[in-house]
Amino acid sequence: MKPSASAEDVRAVCEKIETMGFRAHPMPGAQRVAIGITGNPGPIEPAEFEGMPGVAEAIRVSKPYKLVSREVKQEDSLVRIGAGVEAPIVGGRELAVIAGPCAIESRDQAFRAAERVARAGARLFRGGAFKPRTSPYSFQGLGQEALEVLDEVRERFGLGIVTETIDPANCDLVEQYADVLQVGARNMQNFSLLKRVGRSRKPVLLKRGLSATLEEFLMAAEYILSEGNYNVILCERGVRTFADHTRNTLDLSVIPAVKRLSHLPIIVDPSHGTGKRNQVLPLARAAIAVGADGLIVEVHPEPDRALSDGFQSLDPGQFELLMREAAAIGTVLGRSLTLNP
Ligand code: PEP
Ligand code: MN
Repeated sequence: MKPSASAEDVRAVCEKIETMGFRAHPMPGAQRVAIGITGNPGPIEPAEFEGMPGVAEAIRVSKPYKLVSREVKQEDSLVRIGAGVEAPIVGGRELAVIAGPCAIESRDQAFRAAERVARAGARLFRGGAFKPRTSPYSFQGLGQEALEVLDEVRERFGLGIVTETIDPANCDLVEQYADVLQVGARNMQNFSLLKRVGRSRKPVLLKRGLSATLEEFLMAAEYILSEGNYNVILCERGVRTFADHTRNTLDLSVIPAVKRLSHLPIIVDPSHGTGKRNQVLPLARAAIAVGADGLIVEVHPEPDRALSDGFQSLDPGQFELLMREAAAIGTVLGRSLTLNP
């Protein structure tokens, strides 16, 4: 739509799409609204829309992913987390940092982590309540008890809560507590979960699958948008390769590739991306340098005593250094990251 298009013009286009038996997806941007069409079995004549008031142009999308593509929406998407004027926004000038332990282990552990990451400037807190573990005998998370702790963390430290949902039924519970629903790497192609989070009103953090191509990654995001949830944050968290000096190979080249093809924001997880504490800081710096919109980092008050992923978790002091260095690199690129004094 043209920047000058009125809400009425947008509504009229959406109504016409629905009358044709298709689905309209109005996606507001900073300057203008893009409207995607899905459910059409074949091409639609652009002239059907080009004459309507407020329409700038009608484009046929050439890619298999439609709504996530820059062809449909040229402007970067901004994903607002929570309500209010102070709510963090992912994808704008401000870098977003999500930090906290791999899993919530106790109220005390969560509070100690939250206090330190908030003091260092993070505005979003991570912590698994339901953990998708490789072994059924490993710690599976505290479940609802952890969700209740996360509620307290939000209240007490003013942090937005990012936590994982592992299947569609589990999502009913998790979305009552989370500000952002995390879909883990192992679930990137759990299509029923993708559809379920696509019907949620909460933003989604979608992690790249362990061996997903860029196209598969974007198609997974397309599942979520196709259900009407346009608030998706992508996350590169490393892929499986022959390299054995890291747990995963962090594919930072995917950042500019995503930026070219999609309007969605993308952040980087240097913790799972490397699996080694000593590699987290250098790769976090590189992620900001390459143009990521933010980071998700595992931080534990006592990493050596963590019940999961301690070997890749930073202690709070290391996280403070990461924040300072990420902020400094961001400045060079016109990105800001507010640190607390
Ligand atoms: C996590 O964030 O703790 C996690 C399990 O990540 P991933 O799905 O990327 O392995
Ligand atoms: Mn983890």
